[in-house]
Amino acid sequence: MTIDDAPREALRGGPRELLRWVATGAAVSRADLSRLSGLSPSTVSQRVEALISQGLLEETGAGRSRGGRRPRQLAVPTGGAVVGAVDLGAHHARVGTLDLSGRVVQARTLPVRIEDGPEAVLGALLAEVATLVGDDPEASPGGSATGALRGIGIGIPGPVQHATGRIVSPSRMPGWNGFDVAAFCAGRVDVPVIVDNDANLMALGAHRTAHPELDHAVYIKAGTGIGSGVISSGRLHRGAQGSAGDISHCRVVADPAPPCTCGNAGCLEAVASGAALVTALRGQGVQVSDLTGVIRLIDDGDRQATALARQAGRAVGEILAVVVNFFNPQVVAIGGRLADCEPLLASMRATLYERCLPLATQSLLIERVATGQDVGITGAAHLVIDHVVAAS
Ligand SMILES: [Zn+2]
Repeated sequence: MTIDDAPREALRGGPRELLRWVATGAAVSRADLSRLSGLSPSTVSQRVEALISQGLLEETGAGRSRGGRRPRQLAVPTGGAVVGAVDLGAHHARVGTLDLSGRVVQARTLPVRIEDGPEAVLGALLAEVATLVGDDPEASPGGSATGALRGIGIGIPGPVQHATGRIVSPSRMPGWNGFDVAAFCAGRVDVPVIVDNDANLMALGAHRTAHPELDHAVYIKAGTGIGSGVISSGRLHRGAQGSAGDISHCRVVADPAPPCTCGNAGCLEAVASGAALVTALRGQGVQVSDLTGVIRLIDDGDRQATALARQAGRAVGEILAVVVNFFNPQVVAIGGRLADCEPLLASMRATLYERCLPLATQSLLIERVATGQDVGITGAAHLVIDHVVAAS
């Protein structure tokens, strides 16, 4: 059993958790780790030594003594090793390097034409990661552009078969169906590349940043498309093939039911995604070119755009109510560009309370994902860090 497959109870004091305690400042010494984990000092020492030998932890001198020899302090290295991260969207990609604690070192946003196809788009993004690593003097001692790179995490705005890194039937990504992202990248870089869908990356990034202490959470990503990522027992829940959390083609009440890219009608994505709002407004004769235009209209209180945002919020709330009743999370958070639309959020919240069991909502946190544009690359970095720790 790998660390990724182990139940959370068995992970108390596992290498990943020890690393997280040091990264968050909860622990600065072996004694702290022993106290937090309940593990014996010798077991903690053994695990810490393994993490140090992997370059995932370092010793930074002596801490405060409580009477005996002064304990050596532990820290996550902030220089010398980085993780590359890519969060691909419909029109833009966020590309960054992060240190082993998940802190962003450098990041930039690039325009992307997804219709240029996977080779061109991914080739350019991998080149950008190499440039960022090369630009970071701490990350590339000796001038080797990829010498300190420990891995690259990539988020794709469509369904990804996690075990193989292959894209399966994405909407609005012509030429990408069946493309093996992991194999393509493996032929170009000599570090591990881990591929997942963008909603899972947002879920992981938001969970590790805002609520690492909560075990059960659902994150909705509402942008051009719509999806969700599920944290169960503290870990990302992907299901058998990696499609867990993909709510985009769940049917919602809509009359008339708009046609969906999947061939059905009335799917959540056809009613509540940013792309659906653009299509619906154009159908009503409103001149709007993209999601940014829709959000501007909603912010300006445009009647038609606001009504559609409310309808979208009800549709999201309807599906989310089923998810909450079924899964009983502690927190539900919404992120993506539509998360700032108040009318959408208000109707989502109202529908959720109306349709959920009181027991499921009495202490449920409903909130916005607060970590901004770097949440996806943060999640991508944590995917890689977890992989590196599991392999150590
Ligand atoms: Zn559909």
